[in-house]
Amino acid sequence: SREEISYFGAGPAPLPTPVIEESAKALVNFENTGLGLSEISHRSPTANKVLADAKTALSTLYDIALEGDDAYEILFMQGGGTGEFSASVQSCVGWWVERRRRKAVAELGDGKEAEVLERVRKEIKEQLKVDYLVTGSWSLKASQEAARLIGSKYVNVAVDARKSNNGKFGVIPAESEWKLSDSKNSAMAYWCDNETVDGVEFPEFPESLKGRAEDDGVVVADMSSNFVSRKINVRDYGIIFGGAQKNLGIAGITVIIVKKSLLALTPAPAFLQQLSDVLPSAIPPVVFDFATIAKNNSLYNTLPIFNLYVATLVLQSLVSTFGEKKVGGQEELANRKAQSIYDALDKYSDIYHVVPDKSIRSRMNICFRIKPKAGSEVEPGKWDEARDKEFLASAEKKNLMGLKGHRSVGGVRASNYNAVSLNSAEKLVAHLVEFARTS
Ligand code: PMP
Repeated sequence: SREEISYFGAGPAPLPTPVIEESAKALVNFENTGLGLSEISHRSPTANKVLADAKTALSTLYDIALEGDDAYEILFMQGGGTGEFSASVQSCVGWWVERRRRKAVAELGDGKEAEVLERVRKEIKEQLKVDYLVTGSWSLKASQEAARLIGSKYVNVAVDARKSNNGKFGVIPAESEWKLSDSKNSAMAYWCDNETVDGVEFPEFPESLKGRAEDDGVVVADMSSNFVSRKINVRDYGIIFGGAQKNLGIAGITVIIVKKSLLALTPAPAFLQQLSDVLPSAIPPVVFDFATIAKNNSLYNTLPIFNLYVATLVLQSLVSTFGEKKVGGQEELANRKAQSIYDALDKYSDIYHVVPDKSIRSRMNICFRIKPKAGSEVEPGKWDEARDKEFLASAEKKNLMGLKGHRSVGGVRASNYNAVSLNSAEKLVAHLVEFARTS
């Protein structure tokens, strides 16, 4: 049964059992309507209510202003986190170009289309940059997608964490070493708040990006794997996005929190088309065009309402569980679970090696290796995969599942997402202790 299994998979990830049970009912017969949620129109009042409830719960948890000068739009889309790698860079570059176009029109006057175009073209060639903080596999992929779409000459990898760590992720170099472009020329500063594969999480919002939002700079964060797990100040960001299948729900929807004022800067495709010689592929497909999706209340095309419903239930249960503390309540719980697991790993440091540096250990994805046995043949600094396997097999015997590290890095990864109960975390801790004492 579900109660017997503790699942630490990295995504798709476990969901709270009451949410899964309620969703299962809704799939068959939603609120006694005789129809399941996947069978009804995404434009029906029922679907609209699910959408409205999701927005209410999320804006409550994160204190998001949906109206007013610094309002944000909450969008639900498809395409996963990967789709947002593309959508975010295309949108930000478009906003940058539109700002430059408006400035040129203001300075050159009306009716100077050719001069405006030439000036913007020149500025793109000489100034445009998108900044990426590459601190793990997912921000690396996002930066590669930017290079694929708009050309590597515009992509500034402000920091590549592997360079200071023997070619491997696992550290975040000091901000003084980052080489961010001038915020006036930078269309975006992008980072991944929690690197799922490498177990690296930013301890807090980077100091050097503070205030960038007021300076026309767009700060973009991938929060796919630590969404709604800690307090954030949404106003620091232009775009926050995340695939649902870790802390929010099931695969198939992506959430985007985007600053409303940016949407008004979406350029006319015809203008961007004239710049395709210097800026190829800067026009997002319409399903990734935030302004279009916002204008249509996330219902431009068919939104999977069942998937959204699962997320709505998750968000509502966080609101009701943590009350006044909002997402801060979940943060306390996540920290407590993560701390107990790291404490056990640190206590038996002769057996376990935590992969990332201590200052940036992820609360969500706890990556570690089992050290080779004393006197074994393994070269110093290398791992004995048989030891990892031994640990994984012993854990599975106790119904501690989904602990295998990502195929690209190996080792063990305990994902401590929101729906992993304190009880599951305690069972893992008990097993860490027992394995260390007996192996
Ligand atoms: N970003 C992060 C941090 C992720 O963990 C993942 C998926 N594990 C992605 C992006 C890609 O998401 P998707 O598979 O939904 O495209």
